[in-house]
Amino acid sequence: MNAELPRMSLLIDGAFVQSSTTTWKDIVNPATQEVLGQVPFATVAEVDQAVAAAKEAFKTWRKTPIGTRARIFLKYQQLIRDHMGELAAILTAEQGKTLPDAEGDVFRGLEVVEHAAAIGNLQLGELANNVATGVDTYSVLQPLGVCAGITPFNFPAMIPLWMFPMAIATGNTFILKPSEQDPMVTMRLVELALEAGIPKGVLNVVHGGEDVVNAICDHPDIKAVSFVGSTKVGTHVYNRASLAGKRVQCMMGAKNHAVVLPDANKEQTLNAMVGAAFGAAGQRCMAASTLVVVGAARAWIPDLVAKAKTLKVGPGNAAGVDVGPLISTAACTRVEGLIESGIAQGATLELDGRKPQVEGHAQGNFIGPTIFSGVRPGMRIYDEEIFGPVLVIVEVDTLEAAIDFVNANPNGNGTAVFTQSGAAARKFQEEIDVGQVGINVPIPVPVPLFSFTGSRASKLGDLGPYGKQVVMFYTQTKTVTARWFDDDTLGHGVNTTISL
Ligand code: NAD
Repeated sequence: MNAELPRMSLLIDGAFVQSSTTTWKDIVNPATQEVLGQVPFATVAEVDQAVAAAKEAFKTWRKTPIGTRARIFLKYQQLIRDHMGELAAILTAEQGKTLPDAEGDVFRGLEVVEHAAAIGNLQLGELANNVATGVDTYSVLQPLGVCAGITPFNFPAMIPLWMFPMAIATGNTFILKPSEQDPMVTMRLVELALEAGIPKGVLNVVHGGEDVVNAICDHPDIKAVSFVGSTKVGTHVYNRASLAGKRVQCMMGAKNHAVVLPDANKEQTLNAMVGAAFGAAGQRCMAASTLVVVGAARAWIPDLVAKAKTLKVGPGNAAGVDVGPLISTAACTRVEGLIESGIAQGATLELDGRKPQVEGHAQGNFIGPTIFSGVRPGMRIYDEEIFGPVLVIVEVDTLEAAIDFVNANPNGNGTAVFTQSGAAARKFQEEIDVGQVGINVPIPVPVPLFSFTGSRASKLGDLGPYGKQVVMFYTQTKTVTARWFDDDTLGHGVNTTISL
């Protein structure tokens, strides 16, 4: 291990500390293979220390006035804005996406921080006056205790910010387990959160992989777990943490279909499709990775291919680049293998993005835009989430057939329809069994006035991240039914019935 390289700290009880582990992983720039730092795989004892600190801090944090909590997030949102350029540069270096896209990653998380600053309007109970004579019933939304979040590599700013700001604003304390592939921008955001005034023990960070995640799932003092990542790991987390009695929300994998009707605005639709399929090198859970062309829209495929060819592949920090590298050499090899499988299984390779020439970056994990037509269920490129810059095209004859096709896929994360017909769009919106629906919007990630959601294999647990739903997720509803005696005539003696 090179002692010169920065090593990620754990955050336990307000102090950044070095892990005592012997297992460290390199954090690698995916455009160059330069090692940027090292991340520890924390020990189970360190997870226990973080949870103990969070449990202790909860005793006072749960009683902290709403205004005090809100003001921390008001300050935090300003600090994030002030450091936007620095955060985006760290993110691009370790994750690969382009600098403007990295700013978008930070910004979509910043919107949740702004929402957390409005907690005074969000964490409200209800009151019903005179539910019986002289009796009122009201509800209070109380924090749960220690909550935990486990995050993926593809949005290392946005997704941690989906989790800890709302958990903490609602009065909980938090254990964050960032992706071990790109934890540096997450740690910078955590430093800024402390600078904004989050007290010691309220936010804690443990790094690691499977063992740390399992320790979180099993820990008796953790009350709720938020997970975002693959379906395989999310299903494991949901089952294991639920079995241990926790609330769990898991946002998982996807295969997002965009349905294009022949009456759509062709130029806008093709621009949207190219951006949504190949942006972030296809490493978005909301990437539009399957294009369903209806009827005469199949004639647009050559124009789509021509547009995709204009995208520039290169390092995310270079001006004018559209498609950065994949996160790791392993991810690159896997996606290349899927492209080979598509050819072997009989799909038509319309555009081959393998091994692009990127000047000065021969070592980078690059794959350029790749397009297959003639794709069918049963082919691996349709059945698996590719998570790379590969668009697969399916042809159907009618809107009804397109809806049936999308609903037959096991995943239900995001979808979009492109049309100028309000009636067709409304039919699609009503009948499609997918969480996020876009109408002429290719990546319909909801703003925090709403909550992220998902159907079928893309989500486990009923309440989504951020927005109104997460206030319910991170709180326990308590109802109070109260009678105050100001007149002896109100009482009615001993009563053995269930009435009030
Ligand atoms: P991943 O499932 O490999 O990792 C997610 C987290 O789980 C990481 O913190 C990782 O350390 C941990 N982990 C990995 N293997 C584990 C194991 N065996 N046991 C326990 N924990 C483990 O996901 P990823 O590759 O980082 O992210 C990409 C996936 O995330 C894609 O499937 C994508 O669709 C999904 N995703 C979904 C959403 C959504 O909102 N639905 C958003 C972003 C990403």
